[in-house]
Amino acid sequence: MRETWPERFAETPDVLIDLEVGAQAGARRERTHVPVRDFVVGGDEFVTMAGPCSVETERQLLATAEHVRRCGARVLRGGAFKPRTSPYAFHGLGLEGLKLLAKARQETGLAVVTEVMSECDVAMVAETADILQIGSRSMENYSLLEAAAHSGRPILLKRGMVATIGDFLKSAQFILENGNPNVILCERGIRTFETAMRNTFDAAGIALLKKIAHLPVIADPSHAAGHRDLVPDLARIGVAAGADGLIVEVHPDPERAWSDGEQSLNFAEFGAMMDNLAPWIALRERHRSWQHTAEARSLEVVG
Ligand code: PEP
Ligand code: MN
Repeated sequence: MRETWPERFAETPDVLIDLEVGAQAGARRERTHVPVRDFVVGGDEFVTMAGPCSVETERQLLATAEHVRRCGARVLRGGAFKPRTSPYAFHGLGLEGLKLLAKARQETGLAVVTEVMSECDVAMVAETADILQIGSRSMENYSLLEAAAHSGRPILLKRGMVATIGDFLKSAQFILENGNPNVILCERGIRTFETAMRNTFDAAGIALLKKIAHLPVIADPSHAAGHRDLVPDLARIGVAAGADGLIVEVHPDPERAWSDGEQSLNFAEFGAMMDNLAPWIALRERHRSWQHTAEARSLEVVG
């Protein structure tokens, strides 16, 4: 007989939506709604997170925060601690960057998501961050995952660039196992033989995660594409694949960005992308209510 998804991912039972073992077989878990300030990720609202790759200056961050808020974003992104492949690249403003993020939150009311790279920094970053980002390069850093889980903050877990869905779920399970239920999965593209794009956007991965896991899933079209002209298309595909939200890089002057300028949208491009996404997000609401009805019916049949 064909292996079921819960059998296939049996090593990570707590992330799965369908329970397949013992007396609970056939039962279904509630979807996780991750609480962030005055909203949730993974509920009915589609949540957009946007901002620069790196926090650079007060002017850059505050102008970007104000713009993305006006366009409908709920969360400001921006790295104060940057994992850069080159040792000579900009590695972030550190504590100074965190202070600027706190100021931007105070002025705009946006929540803040920012990366933590080292377990030694978890307490400091968690003081400012509403959501702690675990970067692609850190997905398998288990001491970092453990410390981040214990902070009690929601965790945005980015898929490792060479991680299978099974590996990704194992890291999520590890966080749950450490007592933190508030995990948001983020598909940000994986390495394949294709070199035209920075990474290969795994839309099927998003669809699969939404089918088998109860955790919210968001799409990162910026790191997946690596080129700003592809970002709106990948964002739309992310919505259609069932993502609960997006995380997008936006900069007032992408050509002069200190990191990831080639994939960052300028203000006008981000505004246009949000306008163009609106009908797709509305369609998603309709699809979700249809899906809820279908799921409820199939449970009635099973029950
Ligand atoms: C980022 O969000 O700027 C980042 C470094 O992402 P990733 O860990 O997915 O490469
Ligand atoms: Mn980046």
